[in-house]
Amino acid sequence: MQAYADKTRTQGHTLALVPTMGSLHEGHVSLIRRAKEEADHVTVTIFVNPTQFGPHEDFDSYPRNFDRDCAILADIGGVHAVFAPTESAFYPEGTDHHQVWVTCPEMTKFLCARNRPGHFEGVLTVVMKLFAACKPHIGVFGLKDIQQFILLKKMIHDLSLDIKMVGVPTAREASGLAYSSRNEYLSPDERLQARVLSKAVIVATELIKNGETSSQTVRDLMKKTIQSAPLSRLQYAEIVDSNTLHPIEDLSSGMELIAAVAVYFGEVRLIDNALVSVPLD
Ligand code: AMP
Repeated sequence: MQAYADKTRTQGHTLALVPTMGSLHEGHVSLIRRAKEEADHVTVTIFVNPTQFGPHEDFDSYPRNFDRDCAILADIGGVHAVFAPTESAFYPEGTDHHQVWVTCPEMTKFLCARNRPGHFEGVLTVVMKLFAACKPHIGVFGLKDIQQFILLKKMIHDLSLDIKMVGVPTAREASGLAYSSRNEYLSPDERLQARVLSKAVIVATELIKNGETSSQTVRDLMKKTIQSAPLSRLQYAEIVDSNTLHPIEDLSSGMELIAAVAVYFGEVRLIDNALVSVPLD
């Protein structure tokens, strides 16, 4: 992969990288489309990274559809390389003996990080390794995983990586449900009810745009919206600062915020968010 990237760079091409865990859907496709606009060479990686899953999470059952993924990529066209390392290629000493990790302690106290200890260390470390393998000029990531996106931007900044980050808005089904590889595990009823995630972040956005200044009031409305789905189990509904990811209590003029929710349907954990600016006084 490194030799291919070196050769492509020497030929004067611009390389964009789209990291994925496979089981490709419309969300991934929107990233690839954007990558094609940003660069003339596109690499897609497919790697279900063991180090970002907790011991009781769904690493073993995570959907893997490599042949179908390659067919989808061939169909889209314009993808020049698919990089799908084996686990032993990426963690030759085994994940338990991997020594060097990328961490970001201050920004991994809230949102998903609070509920998934070690998750973002796994993500930052594997993306660092994917950058090292694929040598992109541009990294294309989804804003659906907003905490991941902000942490990766911070990693690039703090470690002085010469990579431009591009964030792509969340691709959604007609119901508003964000595309996710995990959606395929929802029962028809759960899938119908899962539209409450997007509803919750929309009502939060509207409330803030209409001048609400209490974060508690906005969080309560998000919770109520989620709880209107009888099969849901709310994990969190938060309002955080979009730079620091710290929870915000009093919403004041000009703040850039994220309204975010995480919700279980059965064993399936779904997330959604919206970026929202508090109106100027
Ligand atoms: P994953 O395969 O779930 O690790 O996701 C790979 C990339 O696709 C990440 O940058 C995600 O943020 C992005 N992604 C996943 N779902 C969506 C979506 N519905 N819309 C836009 N990007 C997405």
